[in-house]
Amino acid sequence: MPIPQSVRASTAVAQQQAYRGTLPVCSFERLLPSLADDAGELGIELQAGKAQGRVMLQGTIGGTLTLRCLRCEQAYAWPVDVQVDLRLVDSEEEEQAVLHEADPYLVQDDQLLLREIVEDELLLALPMLPRCETCENIVRAGAVEASPETQASTEGDARGKENPFAALKGRLGKQS
Ligand SMILES: [Zn+2]
Repeated sequence: MPIPQSVRASTAVAQQQAYRGTLPVCSFERLLPSLADDAGELGIELQAGKAQGRVMLQGTIGGTLTLRCLRCEQAYAWPVDVQVDLRLVDSEEEEQAVLHEADPYLVQDDQLLLREIVEDELLLALPMLPRCETCENIVRAGAVEASPETQASTEGDARGKENPFAALKGRLGKQS
């Protein structure tokens, strides 16, 4: 069953409807500005249901998106693994009540806009600073080199004969 554009919320919940299918990446118009390539498709599974007095829509979105690395500007594959866990509410009071357990989704006109929900979840999941694996490693290595911890140990080596325990004691003393 393909993912419908929208379904009746009341029917979906009463029948505990499940939706499983794929959507082409190029169909997510709001996502496109963040992508380096709109080829491919994403796999989507959604399930409407009710548990412990809450009405929910849960599922997963999986696949690959092509992002552009901020650092080297190369396109790279970003694996998508989004867990959807929404509480369906129909008032602002109810929205406030579920905030502590999951993201609320305000149902209007008894419509569940499935594709819009999927796109919202993807937009939220996108990395703020997209970096390819190579650049991510370089940035992380740079952060380690610049840390004061490493500088301190190089200093210790340069001093040569100094007793390592004395040096440690001195450092601990400075900290306290
Ligand atoms: Zn890069």
